[in-house]
Amino acid sequence: MNVLVINCGSSSLKYQLINMENEEVMAIGLTERIGIEGSRVVHKTSGEKTIIEEPMKDHRDALRIVLNAIVDPKIGAVKDMKEISAVGHRVVHGGEKFAESVIITDEVKKAIQDCAELAPLHNPANLMGIDACEEILPGVPQVAVFDTAFHQTMPKASYLYGLPYELYEKHGIRKYGFHGTSHKYVAQKAAALMGKEMADLKIITCHLGNGASITAVDGGKSIDTSMGLTPLEGSIMGTRCGDLDPAIVTFIMEKENLDVAAVNNLVNKKSGILGMSCVSSDFRDVEEAADAGNEKAQVALDAFAQRVKKYIGAYMAEMGGADIIVFTAGLGENSISMRAKICEGLEGMGIKMDAEKNNVRGKETVVSTDDSAIKVAVIPTNEELMIAKDTAALVK
Ligand code: AMP
Repeated sequence: MNVLVINCGSSSLKYQLINMENEEVMAIGLTERIGIEGSRVVHKTSGEKTIIEEPMKDHRDALRIVLNAIVDPKIGAVKDMKEISAVGHRVVHGGEKFAESVIITDEVKKAIQDCAELAPLHNPANLMGIDACEEILPGVPQVAVFDTAFHQTMPKASYLYGLPYELYEKHGIRKYGFHGTSHKYVAQKAAALMGKEMADLKIITCHLGNGASITAVDGGKSIDTSMGLTPLEGSIMGTRCGDLDPAIVTFIMEKENLDVAAVNNLVNKKSGILGMSCVSSDFRDVEEAADAGNEKAQVALDAFAQRVKKYIGAYMAEMGGADIIVFTAGLGENSISMRAKICEGLEGMGIKMDAEKNNVRGKETVVSTDDSAIKVAVIPTNEELMIAKDTAALVK
């Protein structure tokens, strides 16, 4: 069975065609600048890379070009669209309605639409991808896999904010959490690495990329996570501020004479590592600047590490300990120095890093010492495979 995995942004469409018999990625690509001048597809099959430059007015055009590439005799991966058995969509917000992946029906689409208020940039784009697939691949079952679903097991004490209860009832204001597919995937992998069942483990998963979130997984269930109503809460991130004194928002609005849209833009796009370092949102640039003596860059990295450390401590307290801490995503998988910095000084809590083992990038491996009471591991995430697996399981 071949599953097409689709991840739609407002002007982008990422895809992978996965053979579920051997989990081989048959085609992978990215469509950029949909609806804008200069739109293009970067399409890859078994090492061959092709760039297709063609105007695309919407996601339907983009998907048509992608599917033509997938069945192209020269650059394609299959002979016929009939070889695509199902489509799995990454959907960002499933609100309280979805605790699991589901087969897409009109009712599901309406529910995704209803959640759009909570993810105005993402859910409408996800729906555009679903509509395009329905039109171009009629009769092929489609599945929605939600970023929020894994966190639906959080207890009320974790997900309610210290706000009037009626705001939760009226507007659904609560912690939802994100990156759920990634946290679930690496937690399952961590259990396999430990040779135990997830049900018997306390796992802290640190998804550290441009967006960053940390999750406490107790007995296989997410019991707390650092992102909130939106992906702005929690750790400092590439361009997002993370946790703030909420009074700062109104204070900035007054002092800088900013309206709602402008302050939203500031905390989401101009803050975090970018805003603090005044260098870049890319950790590689900031690490380079810090190595060259840039003090703001160094403080930004120190602050990032300190916030992640704080969440690790908090989640150990919430779970009454931990068996394993997992680092994943761009920074978590690749930054040797950031992993070392986050775990520095935690020996008293049973976390001992092995400098030699930690000298690794993008590979699943244990990076703590043999006598570390709590294991630390690098586990590359694979959200697409997780989406494909959920899709295959549901359509079978
Ligand atoms: P993601 O959002 O998971 O794609 O992660 C993107 C982030 O990972 C960017 O900020 C990159 O700077 C960071 N990253 C990727 N590779 C490295 C590396 N070798 N060292 C440090 N940071 C890295």
